[in-house]
Amino acid sequence: MSDCLFCKIAQGKIPARIVHQDEDTVAFEDIEPQAPFHVLVIPRQHVATLNDLGREHDGVMGKLLRVAATLAREKGYAEKGWRAVVNTNREGGQLVLHVHLHVLGGRQMGWPPG
Ligand code: AMP
Ligand code: ZN
Repeated sequence: MSDCLFCKIAQGKIPARIVHQDEDTVAFEDIEPQAPFHVLVIPRQHVATLNDLGREHDGVMGKLLRVAATLAREKGYAEKGWRAVVNTNREGGQLVLHVHLHVLGGRQMGWPPG
């Protein structure tokens, strides 16, 4: 989608600190990190929210989780623990309308989330 910030990052039109990319996904550091480790993993294809998923997205959504786990393991958080979060729409806290998996690690997480 031409007007989407995360589509532009995926296409290299806006700079980001990219930590992983493949044919289906891109992962980059969050510009306002909420933990010592905070990256966003996105599908290259534009999908606005989790509400918009169809069967055709099953594969890439699984891949987002596997990329997240790989990155967390590479950073040494696999055993200690880490968190993956997807915010959805306004009350869910979603500001950027392109599905993204927050991957956070390096501090004790609270529950319930705020
Ligand atoms: P959400 O509130 O779930 O939509 O999360 C959007 C996230 O995108 C926030 O954590 C922002 O800090 C992050 N963000 C916004 N703009 C950028 C950017 N240009 N590069 C990296 N992260 C960004
Ligand atoms: Zn997009």
